[in-house]
Amino acid sequence: MNNCIFCKIINKEAPAEIVYENEQIIAFKDIKPLAPVHILIIPKIHIPTVNHFEERDRELIGELILTAQKIAKSQGVRETGYKLVFNVGKGGGQIIDHLHLHLLGGWKKEKERDIPGMP
Ligand code: AMP
Ligand code: ZN
Repeated sequence: MNNCIFCKIINKEAPAEIVYENEQIIAFKDIKPLAPVHILIIPKIHIPTVNHFEERDRELIGELILTAQKIAKSQGVRETGYKLVFNVGKGGGQIIDHLHLHLLGGWKKEKERDIPGMP
């Protein structure tokens, strides 16, 4: 957990372009964007993957989606549309073991929307 890059971002021990923060959640720009708008939305507690969500996390799960909705608006993609993606585990393409919700959008043309490695 101590070596987790996303925990370091939460603790301001590593740099990130933060676009939103509240008590439970922080959101920042992906360092290697796969879309004109590519934001990672993460819980401040270290949960490794979606598989580790438990009953007690219900509120947090809702908060992640509501935060995504807010960020979509502030990033100007609420009306044009966007993707919300959880990669789960190695086989699902998850590289960082701190749960994160990808928000992707801002494409000008439909064709540009296809993201390699993403559905
Ligand atoms: P995933 O493949 O779902 O684990 O996605 C991890 C994402 O984190 C990738 O899109 C990376 O570009 C992004 N990423 C890795 N390190 C950083 C960082 N220090 N700041 C912002 N984004 C990062
Ligand atoms: Zn972490």
